[in-house]
Amino acid sequence: MTPKEHVRSRPPPEPAAGAARPPIGNIFRYGRHAVELAYSTSPGLCIALALLTVLAGILPAGVAWVGARIVDSVVHAARAYAASGNAALEPVLYYVGFEALLVALLAAAQRGLATCQSLLRAQLGQRVNVMILEKALTLGLEQFEDSEFYDKLARARREASSRPLSLVMRTFGLVQNAVSLASFGVILVQFSPVAVVILALAGLPAFFAEAKFSGDAFRLFRWRSPETRMQSYLESVLAREDHAKEVQLFGIGPLLLGRYRDIYEKLYREDRALTIKRDVWGFSLGLVATLSLYGAYGWIAVSAARSLITLGQMTMYLALFRQGQSALSSALSAVGGLYEDNLYLSNLYEYLEQPAPEPRGEVKRGPAPEDGIRFESVSFTYPGAESPALENIDLSLRPGESLALVGENGSGKTTLIKLLTRLYHPTSGRVLFEGRDLEEWDEATLRERIGVIFQDFARYQLPVGENVGAGDVAHFGERERWVEAAEMGLADPFIRELPAGYDTQLGKWFKGGRELSGGQWQKIALSRAFMRTRADVLVLDEPTAAMDAAAESEIFEHFRTLTRGRMTILISHRFSTVRMADHIAVLEGGRIVERGSHEELMKLDGRYARLFSLQARGYR
Ligand code: ADP
Repeated sequence: MTPKEHVRSRPPPEPAAGAARPPIGNIFRYGRHAVELAYSTSPGLCIALALLTVLAGILPAGVAWVGARIVDSVVHAARAYAASGNAALEPVLYYVGFEALLVALLAAAQRGLATCQSLLRAQLGQRVNVMILEKALTLGLEQFEDSEFYDKLARARREASSRPLSLVMRTFGLVQNAVSLASFGVILVQFSPVAVVILALAGLPAFFAEAKFSGDAFRLFRWRSPETRMQSYLESVLAREDHAKEVQLFGIGPLLLGRYRDIYEKLYREDRALTIKRDVWGFSLGLVATLSLYGAYGWIAVSAARSLITLGQMTMYLALFRQGQSALSSALSAVGGLYEDNLYLSNLYEYLEQPAPEPRGEVKRGPAPEDGIRFESVSFTYPGAESPALENIDLSLRPGESLALVGENGSGKTTLIKLLTRLYHPTSGRVLFEGRDLEEWDEATLRERIGVIFQDFARYQLPVGENVGAGDVAHFGERERWVEAAEMGLADPFIRELPAGYDTQLGKWFKGGRELSGGQWQKIALSRAFMRTRADVLVLDEPTAAMDAAAESEIFEHFRTLTRGRMTILISHRFSTVRMADHIAVLEGGRIVERGSHEELMKLDGRYARLFSLQARGYR
């Protein structure tokens, strides 16, 4: 991704479906998704969670109710004792025992919830990660190259193990508090239905305010994704090994850090405004709820004093009020925190719902194998780009022939290869392979028959042998094939000198991993191309740029003899290599401006001839 892609103006705030919903709907919308996700991950755990949640929600009311019975039976026994010097203590002990049982049950339910939660965390994390990765396998290259999309993928991966569970637990937590409050209400109705209505009305504004501000925070954080993306990009530039060299030598660190700070300042100002507003409202409305709770408290105390209710009932109501207060505040803070989990889930689902490219044709063989590859007036414009990267390309290559593409950076060489390998699709015109439109070919057949090594080939942090084997999944682990391919790619000699030969771990991520030089890596990449013994088209997009000219030309001589009868396409800036190709096409600004063999092009005395002599002079 280039920095310019990070600093787009604000994207439209919300997808249409979200914009139409009221904030409350917004904030609970993903709770359902999360619970469905959890249920499909482990129905057993979810049912257990649901049962325990209800149990843990109801039991506190039961405990309060039994508490009232204890007080009343104590008062009753005390009166009997005062009157007759004798009283039956069984009811008291019975209720005490009952309460102990309920409290033990409550503790068991809470512990059970924690257990289910831990088990579900592991399963859910794994499940979401696998969903993300499976989706990634179905995506097209275009999507990976789309900065916003790529950002969604990266964010989806970052918190995959914690967020979905957090949302599930918050949702269940809310249900539990709601059940508790409802059961308190049921008991309180016996005292006065009016009190219940007043308490409910007093609690609702705080609840709605919390949901509204949570919704606002959700939208605020979504809007600013370009800024936070820029921030995390800057973080990676400032703190990652692959950038460290340039950042230090060019002294660009302080400048980038300054930008990082500026973004923070701007975001912080917005955050502060919302946080303050939210807390002021949250506190004021919460206060209304608390005050009305205590109003009811007073009412109950007065009723008890006038003996309208028993002492036991008063104790029970007071316990309910205290617990109701704490259930209310934990419900409010759960709602307040929901937006963060929702942010994550909205991003996750946008990513997962991204349409995958449609599966293409099924053709495994073309009607005219001798026709090789043919581009027919192909033009191509990158998604979002203003001008075409390729325009009106006509080109053909028959089996046994080689083609070199020459042109300045940005002239469209790599794009042409991406079209040939169907990583992108022509905007107009078509590409034929053996007389059949490339679009009609079966994906796997095409991958098998066209082998490509790009200039930015992958450097897998795996053993050397597997790095070669990656060229052909069907023979990924076959040692003899590695060695054969590495011999053809001229990598065998240096691989043998590595400490563990073909089993030497490459890259710095793992202990004992070895780093290779640029040229050595390129030999590995070339060997990878030779793993594809069945490929009849081989494409090398500048994979030898890090080698010296002599090594490159040796490799191509070698390459030519090994690829006889196949089609090869080569991109190189070195004319000593290019001149070996049967056909040469010179690209400029996405068009082919000259074509022919080396001799023909030299005779033409045009652009190719000029570039060739320019480079030849450099070598003299
Ligand atoms: P070459 O391989 O000749 O150096 P490319 O084929 O990579 O050139 O690029 C051709 C043009 O397409 C350039 O103008 C480049 O900026 C543009 N381009 C290349 N890749 C992308 C991409 N993924 N998205 C948008 N534009 C691109």
